[in-house]
Amino acid sequence: MNMMDSHYRTGAWSIVEEGFDPSLQEAAESIFSLGNGHMGQRANFEEHYSGESLQGNYLAGVYYPDKTRVGWWKNGYPEYFARVANAPNWIGIDVEINGRQLDLHTCKPKDFRRELNMRQGYLERTFRVVIGGKTLDIHARRFLSMKRDQIGAIRYSIRSVDYSGPVTWTPYIDGNVKNRDANYGEKFWEMEETGAGPGSGYLVARTRKSGFVACMAMGARFFLNGKELEAEPDVIQKPDYVAGRIKVDVGAGDEIICCKIASVITSLDHERSSIVQDASRILKDAQEAGFDTLFKEHASAWEENWSHSDIIIDGDTAAQQGIRFNIFQLNQTYTGKDERLNIGPKGFTGEKYGGSTYWDTEAFLIPFYLSTAPREVVRNLLIYRYKHLQKAIENAEKLGFSGGAALYPMVTMNGEECHNEWEITFEEIHRNGAIAFAIYNYIRYTGDPGYLDQYGLEVLIGISRFWRQRVSWSDVKGKYVILGVTGPNEYENNVNNNWYTNRVAAWTLQYTLEALEHVREKEPGAYEEIIRKTGFIYKEETTAWKDILENLYFPYHDHHEIFLQQEGYMDKEQVMADDLDPAERPINQYWSWDRILRSCLIKQADVLQGIYLFEDEYDLDTIRRNFDFYEPRTVHESSLSPCVHSILASRIGKYDQAYELYLRTSRLDLDDYNNEVREGLHITSMGGTWMSVVYGFGGMRVKNGLLSFDPRLPEKWDGLSFKILYRERTLHIHIDKSRISIENLQGKGMNLYLLGKKVCLEEAGSVVADIKLVTD
Ligand code: BGC
Repeated sequence: MNMMDSHYRTGAWSIVEEGFDPSLQEAAESIFSLGNGHMGQRANFEEHYSGESLQGNYLAGVYYPDKTRVGWWKNGYPEYFARVANAPNWIGIDVEINGRQLDLHTCKPKDFRRELNMRQGYLERTFRVVIGGKTLDIHARRFLSMKRDQIGAIRYSIRSVDYSGPVTWTPYIDGNVKNRDANYGEKFWEMEETGAGPGSGYLVARTRKSGFVACMAMGARFFLNGKELEAEPDVIQKPDYVAGRIKVDVGAGDEIICCKIASVITSLDHERSSIVQDASRILKDAQEAGFDTLFKEHASAWEENWSHSDIIIDGDTAAQQGIRFNIFQLNQTYTGKDERLNIGPKGFTGEKYGGSTYWDTEAFLIPFYLSTAPREVVRNLLIYRYKHLQKAIENAEKLGFSGGAALYPMVTMNGEECHNEWEITFEEIHRNGAIAFAIYNYIRYTGDPGYLDQYGLEVLIGISRFWRQRVSWSDVKGKYVILGVTGPNEYENNVNNNWYTNRVAAWTLQYTLEALEHVREKEPGAYEEIIRKTGFIYKEETTAWKDILENLYFPYHDHHEIFLQQEGYMDKEQVMADDLDPAERPINQYWSWDRILRSCLIKQADVLQGIYLFEDEYDLDTIRRNFDFYEPRTVHESSLSPCVHSILASRIGKYDQAYELYLRTSRLDLDDYNNEVREGLHITSMGGTWMSVVYGFGGMRVKNGLLSFDPRLPEKWDGLSFKILYRERTLHIHIDKSRISIENLQGKGMNLYLLGKKVCLEEAGSVVADIKLVTD
C-alpha cells in the first residue's frame, strides 16, 4: 500500500492549504466543510466564483424524493431516491472592486491561504488580489454556531494596500440553486416568499413533493476602519433572491468589513405560519450578541466538545491531524439532539449517497458516539430505527415476506427504502444484522437493559422473523442456507452463503432468544405487551429459530482453515491487490463491472467484518489465518474497510500494517486515497477511524460487562491519550511505549480488565500496568 502525499499542511489542530489551485477547488470545498448538526455546507466561496465548484448547503433532515430512474424496472424497486437537497445559498457576498467583480477564477489570488481551524471550528481564507495594478488583502472567516445551531456568521474584510476607489458589497440569499445529481434535472425547491429591508432580507422556500419549508434570514452590517457605516444598502428583491448593495469609497490603508449573520430554520422545528417571524427573532438575538460574542460562545462549545472527545497522539503530527479531522467532522455532522435525524455517508459535505442513512451508522458510528457523548445520543440513533420498524415490516411485505418480518432499508430517510439496485436493495440484507447488533452494543456498553423492553425487543423480533423466512432448506447440504445475497463486499453479488451474512443472521436469532428471556424475567408486564403487540407465537417461533441456529450452513475452507467468504470463492483466480497495476487502481474507476465481479478482489472487510464483530469467539490463530488470507485480496475501495483491517492487525500484533491501515482510514480524505474527495468526505468511515485508534491501538473492548484494555502502540508514536465516557464516568487513558494508565476523572469506582487482569479503579483513582507486546 502506498503512502500518499498530502496537499495540505500538516498541523495538529488545523488543515491549511497554501496557494490556490482551481483544479483542486472541489476537493478543497469538501475538506474545508463546516457543519453543526442542524446544517452544514461545503467550503464554497462567499464571493462569486466562475470556476468548477460543487455548491452545497444542506439542512439536516431535509430531502427531496427524486423519482427513480433505472434502465429496467424490477418489481420491488422503490419509487424514489431521497436526495439531500442543496438549499438556498445564504453565504453569498458579491464584491466589486472598481466595477470589476472579485472572482478568484479570473483574478488570480496571491498568497492564498485557507485554514480549517478544528479547535475553534471555523473556516478562514486570506489572500491578496491585484486589480487594475492595485493591491487589496482579503480576510474572510465564517462559522456555523455550535451554540445556536440555527445561526451562521461571516466576517469578510478587505484592506486596501494602495487602492483608492469604490468597493461594492452585495450580501445576498439566493434560492436559485440546484443539485448536481438529480435524476431528471429537476429543481428541488420552489420559492414561496422573499422580503427585504436595508441590510436585511429573508427567503422562504419549499421542497417540491416532500414539502419541507426552509427560511433563511440575513442581516449585514458594514464597517470602515472599525466604524459602522451609516449609509443604508440598496435593496434588491426578486422572487428567488434578496440582497442589499452598498458602495464604499476606500483609500490606501483602509479596511472595510462586511459582517453577515444568518438564521436558517426549517419546518421540522417551526410552523410555516410563523417561520418568517421565528427566523427574524433568532437573527435579531444573534445580531444583538454580535459576531465576536457569537464566535466566543461557538469556540467555547467546541472547547467543551474537545474536552471529552479529543485524542492526543504524541510524536506523529500526520496521525494526530488525521484523527482530529475525523473527530471534528463527526462532531460537526451529528449532535444527537433529534431522534428524527441520522448521519449520511457524506454528512453535509456532498450530494453522493443522498444524505441518507445506511448500515454505516450502526456498524461504524455508534461506537464513537457511545464513548464520547452522553448515552441519549446513541439512544436517539437507535430510536430512529425503532420508529421505522413498521416501515421495515412493510418493506419486507413488498418483497413477499409476512407475519411481522422486518427488512430495514439499505438506504433511507424516513424508513422507506429508496435504493434502486437490485443487488443492494434486495440482496444486501446483512444491514438488518447491524441494526440488531447495535442494540446489543448499546446495552453492553451503557448497561441500559431497559432499552430492550421499551424498544429493542420489538425490533429484534421483526429482524429475526425476517431471517427465519429468508433462509431456505438445502436437501443437498442437509442444512439451512441463505441464497442470493450481497455481503459487505459489494464486489460480489448474488452469492450463496456469504459467511458474514449467515453469521450475523445466526447471531441475531441467538440474541433475540436471550433478549426474550431477559425481558420475560425482568419485565413480565412489558413482555406480555410486546408479545401481544407483535402477535408473537412463542413456541412455534422460538423452536424454528433454534432449529435454524443448529443447522445453518457456514462455508469453510479446510486447506486454508479459513471461513470462506461465500460458496465458490476459491474457484476464482487468486490475484493479490499488490499485484495490480497501480495505474488501474481504484479498480472501480478502471475495470468493467463484470471483471470486478469475476475477480477475487474484495472491496471491503467482509469475513473480517464478522471476525471483528464477534472477535471474542475466535482465538488468535483463527483471526491471524483469516486476516492473512483476506487482507492481501482486499482493495479497500470502500472507506469502511481499512479501519476494520487496522483493528484486527493490531489484535494480531501486525503493528506496522495496523499503522499503515490507520493512516489510510484517518487520512483517506486529506490525502484523497481513492481520488474522489471532491464528491464529499467519508463521514461514516470516520467513526471507523476512531475505532481503529481506541479499539485497535488502545485495545479497548467491553468484556463480560466490564471495560477491558489491551493496548499496542505503533512504533512511530510516543504516546496516545483519550477520554472515554462510560456509565456515568469519565476515564482518561494514557498509553506510552511501555505503560498504560487509566484515571477515573469523574464517577464511582469500577472494575475493569487491564491486559487481561481484573483490577479495581477507585473513585478518583488510577490504575497502571506495563505493556507486553504480542508479537507476530
Ligand atoms: C459500501 C457500503 C456503504 C456505502 C455507504 C458503499 O461503498 O460498500 O458498505 O454502506 O458505501 O457508505
